[in-house]
Amino acid sequence: MTNKTLCIIKPDAVKKNLAGQIITKITEAGFKIKAMKMVRLSNESAGGFYEVHKNRPFYEELVKFMTSGPCIPIALEKENAVADYRALIGATDPAEAAEGTVRKLFAENKSENAVHGSDSDENAAIEIAHFFSRKELLENYAD
Ligand code: ADP
Ligand code: MG
Repeated sequence: MTNKTLCIIKPDAVKKNLAGQIITKITEAGFKIKAMKMVRLSNESAGGFYEVHKNRPFYEELVKFMTSGPCIPIALEKENAVADYRALIGATDPAEAAEGTVRKLFAENKSENAVHGSDSDENAAIEIAHFFSRKELLENYAD
């Protein structure tokens, strides 16, 4: 699944009603929305999604944050999707993010940082499958 990446508009940004502005930035940068939904994650779902970080000191805080309200996972498509989307959102910590990036514009801090982005093609495929069923993807990826 190259040319695909997973965005999540995180609970902080949904709560602040920033979803529309964030989606506009993403689509203006040339990404196509292939699948999207709004969901309130369970502890199991959020914990599983961030399994790779389970030994990090911030894991518990991260799962608590990601389950604190609804979030909006979005499967995106574009040439060079993973790298281009990470450039668009900026550094994990908004204080270190470049001017004009989504996190610089909309994020609170290193924990509540408005959006998720996949870090490789391989993880993008795994992460998209975490949120979207084979049926949803087949329907949406048909054209
Ligand atoms: P990214 O989301 O930029 O890929 P990571 O994969 O390193 O960043 O971390 C996943 C998420 O965990 C971050 O987006 C952020 O919400 C949270 N996080 C990362 N590092 C910290 C930290 N030092 N303190 C609190 N939360 C963190
Ligand atoms: Mg990451």
